[in-house]
Amino acid sequence: MVLQDLGRRINAAVTDLTRSQNLDEKAFDSMVKEICNALLEADVNVKLVAGLRQSIRRSVNFKELAPGVNKKRVIQKAVFDELVKLVDPHAEPFKPRKGKPNIIMFVGLQGAGKTTTCTKLARWYQARGFKSCLVCADTFRAGAFDQLKQNATKARIPYFGSLTNTDPVAVAAEGVEKFKRERFEVIIVDTSGRHRQEDALFEEMVQIQQAVRPQQTVMVLDASIGQAAEAQSRAFKEAADFGAIIITKTDGAAAGGGAISAVAATHTPIVFIGSGEHLLDLERFDPRAFVGKLLGMGDMQGLMEHVQSLKLDQKDTMKHIASGVFTVRDLRDQLSNITKMGPLSKMAGMIPGLSNAMQGLDDADSAAKLRRMIAITDSMTDKELDSDGKLFVQEPTRMTRVARGSGTSVREVEELLTQQQTMATMAKRMKGGMANMQRAQGAM
Ligand code: GDP
Repeated sequence: MVLQDLGRRINAAVTDLTRSQNLDEKAFDSMVKEICNALLEADVNVKLVAGLRQSIRRSVNFKELAPGVNKKRVIQKAVFDELVKLVDPHAEPFKPRKGKPNIIMFVGLQGAGKTTTCTKLARWYQARGFKSCLVCADTFRAGAFDQLKQNATKARIPYFGSLTNTDPVAVAAEGVEKFKRERFEVIIVDTSGRHRQEDALFEEMVQIQQAVRPQQTVMVLDASIGQAAEAQSRAFKEAADFGAIIITKTDGAAAGGGAISAVAATHTPIVFIGSGEHLLDLERFDPRAFVGKLLGMGDMQGLMEHVQSLKLDQKDTMKHIASGVFTVRDLRDQLSNITKMGPLSKMAGMIPGLSNAMQGLDDADSAAKLRRMIAITDSMTDKELDSDGKLFVQEPTRMTRVARGSGTSVREVEELLTQQQTMATMAKRMKGGMANMQRAQGAM
């Protein structure tokens, strides 16, 4: 999405400043201005941008910075933190309870991606051990039920809907009752959207909500919604008081800033983002990771900060990443460091790709998985550890040998190498940015 352009501009503004010889207040002001212009052009609400501008200025008080403090680092951190605040409403996302019916209702305009996202979310919960199903309460749009049916069948999710009953409230209530009786745990209700906010749509939404009494109402918002996002989300919030937002089509060409404004206007967390038309294109939304990615640092920013605070020996890996390299040994070092860092689920979330591998596992399971991954690397030769991993593809018998030596499976070895490839690709992408960060830190 064009959010990447936004990220690039913000990053460039910060980098320009941190490279400039005269790091004075004037240079700082023009950086803040450039960041704000970039945000405005990406459709972020004017008031929010003004607020951000003030906060960045407030958090970096030039005159009061003690001599010897690394100004560049302080500025980078301030920009990062303020952007995180912008997308983080500090509200806990909904957690379904096992063994109970959890009803989730979707609302949003037509075409926002509700039907597609319903199925993605049902699959997401299904993959995490919740017995999940779908109810189609969209009796307005011809073909809505067919679409849901097709998606649900593909994902093997049980569904309910009616081709003859045109009363969405009755269909929703009937579907939810049926699935409750059948002891489903996550029951997702898709409602109809209209082209605009219309009174009839809101009325129907409220009636369905009263009939099925959802634990969570989710508003689906198209990333391309732009300036209309704020008014729209406020209107939906007033009528349906949704507790979470899912932004769809983040893979598209939209500016995306409108979505950020919607979050801030309604103090509602974005819980997931849709990143494609495929069933698996649904990602957990994490503000720090989001801003990190926005600024082109990947999720590694948080990891780096954490690692630095722990004073672990990271020199080689950092040097490698700065030069765009990430070897199997680098991955091994990271994995063994993680075991020293505490809350595994949190740490894994910071390493791109590893969070997927750990999804759905609790800390004990994650620790066991991590030990197996380390065991795999322990069975590798130095040549293999210091390689970019490609020699395993050229000579697959190496994988068999390592799997046997570590008491794991070839599939697990492959998984680890995929992980390392993800990191290597990121390292390549981050080459410039990391080198800058290192320079900045070196000057501390
Ligand atoms: P609804 O009217 O709100 O139920 O919207 P649909 O689920 O029918 O989605 C409208 C269109 O958006 C469909 O063509 C979907 O394939 C597409 N869509 C939904 N989510 C995404 C996404 O995250 N990325 C992309 N590229 N397309 C999406």
